[in-house]
Amino acid sequence: MNTFTYTRANEAADAIRLGNLNGAKYLGGGTNLVDLMRETIERPASLVDITGLSTAIEETAQGGLRIGAGVRNSAVAEHRLVRDRYPVLARAILAGASGQIRNMATVGGNLLQRTRCTYFYDDDGSRCNKRTPGQGCDAIGGFNRIHAILGASEACIATHPSDMCVALAALDATVHLSGSKGERTLPFTELHRLPGDTPQIETELQPGELITAVELPPLAFAKRSTYRKVRDRASYAFALVSVAAALELDGTTVKDVRLALGGVAHKPWRARTAEDALRGKAATAENFRAAAEAELAAAQPREHNAFKVELANRTITAVLQQLAQEAA
Ligand code: SF4
Repeated sequence: MNTFTYTRANEAADAIRLGNLNGAKYLGGGTNLVDLMRETIERPASLVDITGLSTAIEETAQGGLRIGAGVRNSAVAEHRLVRDRYPVLARAILAGASGQIRNMATVGGNLLQRTRCTYFYDDDGSRCNKRTPGQGCDAIGGFNRIHAILGASEACIATHPSDMCVALAALDATVHLSGSKGERTLPFTELHRLPGDTPQIETELQPGELITAVELPPLAFAKRSTYRKVRDRASYAFALVSVAAALELDGTTVKDVRLALGGVAHKPWRARTAEDALRGKAATAENFRAAAEAELAAAQPREHNAFKVELANRTITAVLQQLAQEAA
């Protein structure tokens, strides 16, 4: 048995002081961390419960939204301004997990959930560089149907499991952080890392640093945005491929677009190559398909997941066609 202490933090300063102690972990809804503790993959010396902190959703002076890290996923998805201004975010959250889990899970915890690579969870029989650096990766020569096709390395081919994070990447969100050296912000797309040689380091957070909020910038055309998730069953399954998209048209021409992919990489994958290929082009299925192919040109599928390349191409094309038709 792994023993640990539990403390509930009443203020951010307390949380950060406790979170900087050796072996400490912040506890949000616990919907992933507690599972990992049961499997003895996570063995914190102490848990700092931060569920009472940062629980507000507020409009910013610029017309965006600031969502506290302690807000429950369900509360974000149900919020009137989220549903009205950023439907892609509400839909992404509702595509994830189950109602019960969304009621427990927090925004900060969602950002920091860990991969669902089955070899990562198999502490008894599988080699995993993320769990034990330098050990090797049994997914590379194993059954890798759910693994990454973009941005992977020879050390790790895991994918990031979050749906919400794919929408946040598309929306150019900003992450607010607080730590022993003060406060700072980070573009959301820079929070998560690609695996490289150090897949055990998953984010740019400093030790003991606390996520306090996620801020969405004003983005008028995000009113026309959506999220589509392709998975093995209709609910309670992680994405094989998912697409978060927002589209702005000028007549029949793409004026602006936001596009991000889930289920394909170690981090939510902002599809900037496809976006650049689309701006100024006619909003046609051919151009959507060509942009998707440009984005996926760098894909490096493994033995069992080559289908994800075509699946991603088709899903991007279908989602952009849907948004274009809604705009017509
Ligand atoms: Fe571990 Fe990554 Fe390999 Fe999965 S893909 S076994 S998480 S190193």
